[in-house]
Amino acid sequence: THFGFREVPVAEKQKLVGEVFSSVARKYDVMNDAMSLGIHRVWKRFFVATSQVRKGDRVLDLAGGTGDIAALLKDRVGETGELVLGDINGDMLRVGRDRMTDRGNVRGFTYVQCNAERLPFPDANFDLVTMAFGLRNVTDKDAALREIARVLKPGGQARVLEFSEVKAEWFRPLYDFHSFQVLPRLGRLLANDADSYRYLAESIRKHPPQGALKAMMEAAGLVRCSYRNLSAGIVAIHTGYKA
Ligand code: SAM
Repeated sequence: THFGFREVPVAEKQKLVGEVFSSVARKYDVMNDAMSLGIHRVWKRFFVATSQVRKGDRVLDLAGGTGDIAALLKDRVGETGELVLGDINGDMLRVGRDRMTDRGNVRGFTYVQCNAERLPFPDANFDLVTMAFGLRNVTDKDAALREIARVLKPGGQARVLEFSEVKAEWFRPLYDFHSFQVLPRLGRLLANDADSYRYLAESIRKHPPQGALKAMMEAAGLVRCSYRNLSAGIVAIHTGYKA
């Protein structure tokens, strides 16, 4: 040891790193459940159940994170299908891959660290591209939508699940109270991190509402664009197609 620095044997070090990541992932899931009272699971199920996907399809789940959407898509694409998880964050992707592998999901899964604004895939490559709770975090959303359109096969479907604008007037004060009072407190309590959850509430308010996002998808070259509100517009599913 030098200057009081304790060297940790490699195996132990890896174990420590692993524990840090899994604690992050556990927190991520606990927070999702706590913030939405578990409803995010219902939204995700509905998002996948109503998407255009058939056995044998090749699907890209962008901003796939810890793999919730990919896990739901697996049965839909079947044995012959292929699922590509793309995420800009290597740590989230690793947690996602480990979780898939633990569930026995190995064949047909690929993990690609990539930025949605510049996808490392050829044109006309996927039957379906999904993005759940990811577009909000992308700096250049127009670029990401253009890239989604580019990598879709003709007739392929783009689907975005994202927080949106609450449409029920009576619900807004409750929703604002939850976002700006409850969320930061939950964040402090469960993750010792109030600021991130304050940021989350702000990023939701800044994200383009239903009509604006639909127009952005059209501008990116997608056709037959539409949206559907879930839970009075707390989230919306936007759909578009490659001509
Ligand atoms: N789709 C997962 C879900 O629904 O649970 C994860 C959503 S998580 C809130 C947002 C994810 O978007 C993170 O894993 C983050 O790394 C990823 N992300 C943020 N910016 C991105 C970008 N420019 N390109 C690709 N992924 C990005």
